[in-house]
Amino acid sequence: MTAPRPLDQSSKLRNVLYEIRGAALTEAQRLEAAGHTILKLNTGNPAIFGFEAPHQIVRDMLRAVPTAHGYSDSRGIVEARRAIVSRYENVPGFPAFDVDDVYLGNGVSELITMTTQALLDEGDEVLIPAPDYPLWTAMTSLSGGTPVHYLADEQNGWQPDLDDIRAKITPQTKAIVVINPNNPTGAVYTREVLEQIAQIARENSLLILSDEIYDRIVFDEAEHISMASVAPDLLCLTFNGLSKTYRVAGYRSGWLVITGPREHARGFLEGIQLLASTRLCANVPAQHAVLAALTGVQSIDHLIEPEGRLHEQRDIAWEGLNAIPGVSCVKPQGALYAFPRLDPEVHEIHDDKRLIYDLLVSEHILMVEGTGFNWPTPDHLRVVTLPEPRVLSEAVERLGNFLASYRQ
Ligand code: PLP
Repeated sequence: MTAPRPLDQSSKLRNVLYEIRGAALTEAQRLEAAGHTILKLNTGNPAIFGFEAPHQIVRDMLRAVPTAHGYSDSRGIVEARRAIVSRYENVPGFPAFDVDDVYLGNGVSELITMTTQALLDEGDEVLIPAPDYPLWTAMTSLSGGTPVHYLADEQNGWQPDLDDIRAKITPQTKAIVVINPNNPTGAVYTREVLEQIAQIARENSLLILSDEIYDRIVFDEAEHISMASVAPDLLCLTFNGLSKTYRVAGYRSGWLVITGPREHARGFLEGIQLLASTRLCANVPAQHAVLAALTGVQSIDHLIEPEGRLHEQRDIAWEGLNAIPGVSCVKPQGALYAFPRLDPEVHEIHDDKRLIYDLLVSEHILMVEGTGFNWPTPDHLRVVTLPEPRVLSEAVERLGNFLASYRQ
């Protein structure tokens, strides 16, 4: 028998990074297998922190299961797509669209992958925020494109740096990704910033890809403004789903809405349709969950009000982090995260991946390093604000104790 041919991973994966479930998670799982309890703050997964699936969603999906065993239309069942059309009728200024402008996917993740695959050729550039939700960078690379990161400005509440965006546009720039409310910073972008991004897209003929999966998770006076509403004259793809607002991430259910002119983009949109067809359809029981979620009680509203759990946890994380010497944190206005800065004058961190590993081994808490979100310097980390108040405040306190004596 000949020796088996060595199998390495495809070279296409060279720039595909996803530290949210990277080497530190493998070590956390090893520690768990050895009997330790690890507080896993690496993913924004509400279910593991005691957030139950809304009853109506579960009930309606269960009712649908016996007859939801066939493939659906590749865009998704029309009832769910109609519910999505109605949802956006209540979003101020959102341009009108039709059920055929909606695609359901197995989470926003699948729709991001379909979009970059349908859009990009070798050498095409996509502007992506830094820090980012790293799937955007990973899928741009995997699709043959080149991610180009524009900075968010921490001094300005993590709003995108418009001059940096302008400076990074080249003739190869095809699209700009906007993540608002933002993962990992918790920033909610102002109307002025969004209008300026739209203007840059207008002047440079850029496709807008707007990831709005946290659109209903905003605190205090923050108002989420949909990118499509400030750019109705531009082709805009809006991504959203059930994982966060409806807290059923495991159902893997998301949607993509296409708005604006499309004559010039026929080929690209046919590409989306082609890829939607090749994966046949999204999970059909979860499509029924979309219908139930969007037409039922919006239970997220209670969680984000001042007495609500998500609001309280945001405050605990933000206050606790700022109380640690040498740590500062911009107040998150939305989403489920805080992205504190470790002052390099106080905490000399050269390798933030190592910091996360050492924190895990010492405190049994798993967080994610800032560079895992394509942040250029090793001076940030991301804290998931989903654990209940007592657990979260203890975790932040332990982070502070750990940092007090940590040296690299
Ligand atoms: N986009 C952003 C900004 C996210 O933070 C996440 C998950 O954390 C996703 C997309 C993935 O969403 P889904 O569960 O719908 O695949």
